[in-house]
Amino acid sequence: MNDIDRAVSLLSELIRIDTSNPPGNEEEAILFLEGYLRKEGLSTEIFPVAPKRANLMARLKGKSKEKPIVLLSHIDVVPAKAEDWEVPPFSGEVRDGFVYGRGAIDMKSQAVCQLLALTRLYKDRLTPERDILFLATCDEEVGGQYGVEYMLKEVEELRHASFVLSEGGCIIEENGCLHAQVSVAEKKLSQFSIEAKGTGGHGSMPHHDNANEKVLAAANAIMSYQWPLKPTGIITTYLNGILKGEKKEGFTYTNLRETLRNKRFREFVESNPVYNALLRNTVTVTILKGGEKVNVIPTESSISFDARLLPTEDRQAFFRKIRVLAGKDVEVIPIGAEKHDPPQSGYDTPYFRGIKKVMKKLTGPIPVLPFVTTGATDLRHFRELGIPAYGFFPITLSNQELFRMHGLNERISVRNIGEGLAGTYEILKFLATA
Ligand SMILES: [Zn+2]
Repeated sequence: MNDIDRAVSLLSELIRIDTSNPPGNEEEAILFLEGYLRKEGLSTEIFPVAPKRANLMARLKGKSKEKPIVLLSHIDVVPAKAEDWEVPPFSGEVRDGFVYGRGAIDMKSQAVCQLLALTRLYKDRLTPERDILFLATCDEEVGGQYGVEYMLKEVEELRHASFVLSEGGCIIEENGCLHAQVSVAEKKLSQFSIEAKGTGGHGSMPHHDNANEKVLAAANAIMSYQWPLKPTGIITTYLNGILKGEKKEGFTYTNLRETLRNKRFREFVESNPVYNALLRNTVTVTILKGGEKVNVIPTESSISFDARLLPTEDRQAFFRKIRVLAGKDVEVIPIGAEKHDPPQSGYDTPYFRGIKKVMKKLTGPIPVLPFVTTGATDLRHFRELGIPAYGFFPITLSNQELFRMHGLNERISVRNIGEGLAGTYEILKFLATA
């Protein structure tokens, strides 16, 4: 069996172990990975953390006792509703050159590529300068309390890691051009709900103290506010790297700050969900709750929002603005404990240059650019400790394919798996010398 076939079969098997979180149940998947690593001769350790939940750490011993390098992947996935999928989400079925299933992109494929790249390094008898740790964790999709947060408390050397590589960026194919996104920061999670109380009653007798009407009016005000487009440092470097000289109807891209003054460019940004999310705070309605019966006015009602702020934004100021927009009839309740804002990782580093070199060797001279992940990942826990942490998986995807992540019919092509394996191995070889 060659490495690509092995990766495809490992990925299918891993997808078949349903690790939907909640509840997670990642232990079986963790034991599956551990079994493979142990069979290959690597030393492993399992960290049980709750019933059916565990984390795994494997080690490739280095020459020195310097701070280790961490290859990080989470083993849980977001839930999937089987009836909406073309291929059952926990089948791991290979169809028309794609492996289908929840976790195919996010991020069981990267876990498999990291695992196989590490075992290959071991079999090639390449001893790294420092230890390389393979860390597979549970619980990322609901915040990481049992996963990375637990492991950072439990294992001191992780708190002193020299570098962490995980998910968050890839090679993007757009209009026939390629560029690599290496994620060095992420937007700030700032979810909240608005809640209203009112007077109940019969639907046939409307009055002015209707909880549903209060949250709807507040939500309308929140949704109609346009958050300004702002050129942050990383995204300026990123967009300048891929758009410079681009001519579209009504604008020629020179640099971000200047081109943002052009109304047609701003319309172009707003029509592209990726650019839009990279350049402004986003606030999205996700849950509506209010009323049970069509003829009854409810006494309580709420609407929840998923909000993500640019890395440079102040969360307090954001909530002040939301409270003003929402008005006095509703209460604004932030969701999740307030956390410190994780700093971004620098991109003028040997790690960034190393990844650039590897990409040049594998894909030719494509732009390799710093990127901001719009979702949250476990890397933030490492960045909070000041550890350089990058999100990058060297596979080529279109944004359409990427949108399947957390969505319907998530899949990864066998070609991508080959690419991910080769790229991860080359990056690992570079890290082994770091
Ligand atoms: Zn993920």
